[in-house]
Amino acid sequence: MKKVKKDSILRPEGKKSRLAEHIAGLPKSGIRDFFELVNKMDDVISLGVGEPDFVTPWTIRENAIYSLDSGRTSYTSNLGLLSLRKEICKYVADNYKVKYKPENECIVTVGVSEALDLAIRAITNPGDEIIYHEPCYVSYAPEIKMAFGVPVAVNTYEKNGFALDPADLERAITPKTKAILLNFPCNPTGATIDMEQMKAIAKLAVEHDLIVLSDLIYSELVYDAEILPAISSLPGMKDRTIFLHGFSKAFAMTGFRIGYACGPADIIDTMMKIHQYSMLCAPITAQEAAEEALKNSICDKETMRREYRSRRNVIVKRFNEAGLPCFMPEGAFYVFPNITSTGLSSMEFATRLIQEKRVAVVPGTAFGACGEGYIRACYATSMEGIREATSRIKDFVKELKKKQ
Ligand code: PLP
Repeated sequence: MKKVKKDSILRPEGKKSRLAEHIAGLPKSGIRDFFELVNKMDDVISLGVGEPDFVTPWTIRENAIYSLDSGRTSYTSNLGLLSLRKEICKYVADNYKVKYKPENECIVTVGVSEALDLAIRAITNPGDEIIYHEPCYVSYAPEIKMAFGVPVAVNTYEKNGFALDPADLERAITPKTKAILLNFPCNPTGATIDMEQMKAIAKLAVEHDLIVLSDLIYSELVYDAEILPAISSLPGMKDRTIFLHGFSKAFAMTGFRIGYACGPADIIDTMMKIHQYSMLCAPITAQEAAEEALKNSICDKETMRREYRSRRNVIVKRFNEAGLPCFMPEGAFYVFPNITSTGLSSMEFATRLIQEKRVAVVPGTAFGACGEGYIRACYATSMEGIREATSRIKDFVKELKKKQ
């Protein structure tokens, strides 16, 4: 039995633990902890949880109602409804220029969350290293650890627009590296990736025989282009990339819990085995709603994107005016302003901002140690909420600076 840390909830050395040690030792998500606090308070304006404030477009909801009304309440194939997989593969081919076979190169999952978990578990042997860029989505390192892999973070920096420098990535590669996990546009920085960087990363993947896990959940939410291209569309990459996507963000369907993965047939088949034994299938109602989203809701998606773009422009300007330098992100619906001039840590800033001004943001450290000195603000909230929250932040910063 391994040595147990003093502050661990596990039993002392030598005694049998009732919990799985590799899970019990994981921290809880910094975002959720923070929002337990927010939920206990009244009149807080939240720039916190990364969830669209739009209701799912009506045609999608109507289709879900129709599906239930028609009594379609059964299991589906483990891979998901073939009709939905056909629509997904058509959408991916039309928009990302990669062709997958609906029969064996696509699996429908319970959100991208499950697709990510299946993908990591399907490729990781104990001790395999998976490289990802930080600051990043809260679940990456824990997911890798839960699969007995070793998470290896490569920092990204504000001065480079939080881009992943291929040279930094290359330095992190070892003989144990199994995969690279990419998320562009990035949660929490909103950073994207340009074609040159993507090609350099693809070259490294080919040279070192690595798999690429590409989390494209925000790929439609880019503001200076139509869509973020997929790395799997580059030569030689389709066979080593797992394309992870879903409906939560661009179609405002978080509560439907529906996502998908496309990739090489052997990997999808292995993912399917885990899914089959642990989840069986994604809910049929959500699958039918997702099919409708791809068939008839593309214009709703465009309307939401336009609105996010205007909100982004306003929130970035107002953070800069408040004295918190804010990088202009090209995608997702987050900004990641620098708060170091206030002299507070990220956690102190976020905690005092809620207590003193009733505005919720997430401390940058929730997304990795290199998030210190930053906060994440989500602009998937009304323009009115953004204006009020940022004017309270401006007052807060002014008061702090007066006392310095
Ligand atoms: N990946 C990233 C980068 C996210 O930000 C999120 C949710 O915020 C997810 C995956 C999970 O998405 P889903 O709702 O599809 O599980």
